[in-house]
Amino acid sequence: MTCAALIVAAGRGTRAGGDMPKQWQALAGARVIDWTLSAFRAAPEIDHIIIVLHPDDIKSYIAPDGIDVTAGGATRAASVRAGLEALEARGITRVLVHDVARPCVTPSLIARVIAALEHGPAAAPAVPVSDALWTVEDARVTGTRDRTGLYRAQTPQGFHFDTILAAHRAHAAENKPDPADDVAVARAAGLDVMVLPGDETNLKITHPPDFKRAEAQLRGAMDIRIGNGYDVHRFGPGDHVMLCGVKIPHERGLQGHSDADVGLHALCDAIYGALAEGDIGRHFPPSDPQWKGMESHVFLRHAVQLASEKGYKISNLDITLVCEHPKIGPHSAQMQAALAQITGLEAGRISVKATTSERLGFTGREEGIAALATAALVAS
Ligand code: MG
Repeated sequence: MTCAALIVAAGRGTRAGGDMPKQWQALAGARVIDWTLSAFRAAPEIDHIIIVLHPDDIKSYIAPDGIDVTAGGATRAASVRAGLEALEARGITRVLVHDVARPCVTPSLIARVIAALEHGPAAAPAVPVSDALWTVEDARVTGTRDRTGLYRAQTPQGFHFDTILAAHRAHAAENKPDPADDVAVARAAGLDVMVLPGDETNLKITHPPDFKRAEAQLRGAMDIRIGNGYDVHRFGPGDHVMLCGVKIPHERGLQGHSDADVGLHALCDAIYGALAEGDIGRHFPPSDPQWKGMESHVFLRHAVQLASEKGYKISNLDITLVCEHPKIGPHSAQMQAALAQITGLEAGRISVKATTSERLGFTGREEGIAALATAALVAS
């Protein structure tokens, strides 16, 4: 199977406002067309991408490497057909036709459309209409319509390549009015079109406010936060240390107000840092006797919970412990498992590393243990 994406970007639509067609307008730091392309480039099932542009735009557009460009026609159907004809000799077996004005399309929706083509010649996403439907004249409601069985069509619409090319050729030969989309062309050719659930977020930029909605979607997907944390505790009397939630026998203990788990404290600070929520001392002041001797997993659970309340999920955690002794290597898997249990993350998203400081400095003299941590959070 060789799968192509055909991006229709030949329109001159101005309903979206601005002084240029919407595909060239800026959206969340890039152009509409760039966002749409990047979604298809991120889909591993797509082998080939072709963009159909207005003839006036072809010269000025510099396509990213590996992406073809061809000139569209006078109508949307003519533009799609031009793209299909340009793909004909390339051994394509599946094609997804997508409107450039849907820049919030996701690689997962793309994958679902392609998967549906295993079961039939045509498949397209759609969302059931949930609002009441009215007819309106002169800003007055003149009637209601039954919404039963009504769906809002989306793209990408997927087809077996030879089938949709033949359907478009037949449509052009018959000189019919411009169809609403490629599903209409397919149905006119007698094809069965399977409907799969669309995404509410896969909106089409048509009117000026749609830019704001699309921008919120795209910025949300990009909202990644990084935080770092650093902590030190000094050795004192004792027979064990707590490190990353694991009790390790040692000839000395770590001193601190709580259980002095330097690893967990650094991780807390990394998460608080990513959230711009200060540090562990702000949330659990050492002056407050209720935290005395507290097991530090309570602090880390608080940091994780705060991230979740603020709309973020933790993508990964990375921690480095700095000490000569105890040796961390034999305990690192257990620490990883303990951190997974405390945070609810899968173990594969938690890294526990250690280093010595080559006998230099306070860690080298074994006066204490230092820990550095990094947390990456993504908007959920
Ligand atoms: Mg500490």
